[in-house]
Amino acid sequence: MEEAAARSTSGLTHNGRAAAQLEYPFEPPASDGSRVEIAPGIAWIRMPMPIPLDHINVYLLRDDDGWIVVDTGLHTDAAKAIWERVAAEQLEGLPIKAVLCTHFHYDHAGLAGWLVERFDVPLYMTFGEYYMMRMTYQPLPQQPGPAQARFLQRAGVPVETGHAMHEALLRDPFMPKEVPAFTRLHDGQVLHIGARRWRVVVGSGHSPEHACLYCEDEAILISGDQLLPGISSNVQVTPAEPEADPLQNWFDSLDRLATLAPHTLVLPSHQRVFRGVHARVQSLRDHHDGQLEQLTAFIARQPGCTTLEAMEALFRNLRSAMDRFLALGETIAHLSWLRFNGRVTRRLDAEGVYRFDLADAADVARSGGGAVEQTKNMGTRCG
Ligand SMILES: [Zn+2]
Repeated sequence: MEEAAARSTSGLTHNGRAAAQLEYPFEPPASDGSRVEIAPGIAWIRMPMPIPLDHINVYLLRDDDGWIVVDTGLHTDAAKAIWERVAAEQLEGLPIKAVLCTHFHYDHAGLAGWLVERFDVPLYMTFGEYYMMRMTYQPLPQQPGPAQARFLQRAGVPVETGHAMHEALLRDPFMPKEVPAFTRLHDGQVLHIGARRWRVVVGSGHSPEHACLYCEDEAILISGDQLLPGISSNVQVTPAEPEADPLQNWFDSLDRLATLAPHTLVLPSHQRVFRGVHARVQSLRDHHDGQLEQLTAFIARQPGCTTLEAMEALFRNLRSAMDRFLALGETIAHLSWLRFNGRVTRRLDAEGVYRFDLADAADVARSGGGAVEQTKNMGTRCG
């Protein structure tokens, strides 16, 4: 992402291959407050974003006495103006009655605080996403804190590069308003909105407790960033949870989506509404399998490599400090998955930098100094 996106945390950094078998049954709306009707009581609106990923899709669900807004757009004046237009012109004379955010990222929840205040309505989110939002939307300290400094050191990132990454995080143009209260969504919960029943389907890996909404009767999925037709959502390890295994969480979430009806109409947060859920799940699996293979081949060529070296092998054309920070987190996610699955070992060298070897070469690494960590069940593997 460009630096203008700063701490936008979406991190939708690479284009995964779009599955060839996808169908796009609707033309998208312009990012000006106009709407496309997906089905009676389900409207598709686009909010502009001043970053390379130039829009986010938001959806309106009609209840008997008002509309539920699903996701909000970035905290910008342009997005606020569009919401005013939508409220005045697109809601068939009914009010906005609630805001629901799929996850905490700025493009999805950045206007939640403004919307709940402006329209005096409740906010629905999962527990994990709400509290991640409260943590993330706090101002950062001027210098990297101890956990972040250690995270970067262990990855082999030079101090100056680490400072550049932190400065990119600090240059945050979209700092949202706080949201002081919420109503909790949880996995499996059924929301009755108008005549429809929407089941909350929680996924993880891109964010901690991402809510999708699935209407089984009509096979419609509001997928947030859990399933996008042509973008592979960023799956990253962050300094706050350095021993996490988000890639396994992501695979588990994809497995759940693969159980949905094959003809499901997917309403994603970016790009176009599509059909072809199973093909898209498979192409995302293939994308990550390819990254895992690339990393394994690189470690075979360069035993004892650092995370930073692995990142540079995996990601070309990183243009900004923010790109590099997101790529670093994604590289760690893949290295951790290989490690938790016994394919790679990690040891801490005398400089406090992690070194990676193929598991078969563990004996060699052990004799080279540094304690080889156990590969299985370390850290916080879930599921
Ligand atoms: Zn996101």
